[in-house]
Amino acid sequence: MPVYEYTCESCGKVTEALRRIADADAPIACEACGSDQTSRAHSVVAVSSGKGESFEPPPGCGRCGDPRGACGM
Ligand SMILES: [Zn+2]
Repeated sequence: MPVYEYTCESCGKVTEALRRIADADAPIACEACGSDQTSRAHSVVAVSSGKGESFEPPPGCGRCGDPRGACGM
């Protein structure tokens, strides 16, 4: 089951819930203030489909990881 995040429109806290896809858009109460004025966040932590090819390499040197850029090696 995927984990969904819901942002509370009253207090701004994020409530995480493990829900069935069919229930993803159903309202859920904020765990901080109890408000049901929550909206589902876009960042859904779903089960990986396996490829991971959308991984973006970090900026900077690809060899030593220096954030300033190429290390010249
Ligand atoms: Zn709240």
